[in-house]
Amino acid sequence: MDDSKGSMRNFIHFHDVSKSFGITKVVENLELEVEKGEFLSLLGPSGSGKTTILMMLAGFEETSAGTILLDGERIQELPPHKRGIGVVFQNYALFPHMTIAENVAFPLRMRRLGRAEIDSRVKRALERVRLGALADRRPDQLSGGQQQRVALTRALVFEPKVVLMDEPLGALDKQLREEMQLEIRELHRRLGLTIVFVTHDQSEALTMSNRIAIFDKGKISQIGTAAEVYDHPQNSFVAQFIGETN
Ligand code: ADP
Repeated sequence: MDDSKGSMRNFIHFHDVSKSFGITKVVENLELEVEKGEFLSLLGPSGSGKTTILMMLAGFEETSAGTILLDGERIQELPPHKRGIGVVFQNYALFPHMTIAENVAFPLRMRRLGRAEIDSRVKRALERVRLGALADRRPDQLSGGQQQRVALTRALVFEPKVVLMDEPLGALDKQLREEMQLEIRELHRRLGLTIVFVTHDQSEALTMSNRIAIFDKGKISQIGTAAEVYDHPQNSFVAQFIGETN
């Protein structure tokens, strides 16, 4: 067995990772392992450090201490675009004047890939999410759900090892939100994606994830499957947080 590449269990591995802004410690001695193909949600109140963890993984924030490994490789010295990570944020509007294909091609053009490679990657990405037939339309000719799928596709064009989602559905109305929850779960299953998903919505985390890490002030208060954290909260913080309704 080749142990140099990340094994199943620690495809993503945060080892003793801390992050401070000035004198404020926002992530404290984090130990976290994510399996390849896993859907892990980071759940917790606003300000508990969830986004900061994604930013350190994506390379948009430096770690203050500790090590982050992805697929066996220490990634902290790598710039964001060399990490094999796709990111979906909440406000990922499409460019209204561009076609769907042009929207998906945009990050590839920014990276100055050749025309032929861009075309083939865009075609492949749109087919993966079953939007090939809509390539030449503009965003306002698509339904809300289809527009969201295009936005997700932009995060997949580089065929990343890991997809990070930071409250991607937070701004949507209830119906579209539920539609997109199904969509993301289906993409996760069908494409075998590894997803780290940030939310402060308990029910979203409980229905979507393989495991949930519940954060309290920069630390994991409990980590486990939905059933484990829901049926056996380990402490009063988790019990109270899971018990709240939105
Ligand atoms: P969450 O995603 O759980 O809402 P964040 O990771 O966004 O939490 O923030 C954790 C804490 O770190 C908050 O108190 C926030 O104000 C602080 N913080 C985040 N980014 C910065 C920054 N760039 N500079 C200073 N403080 C920050």
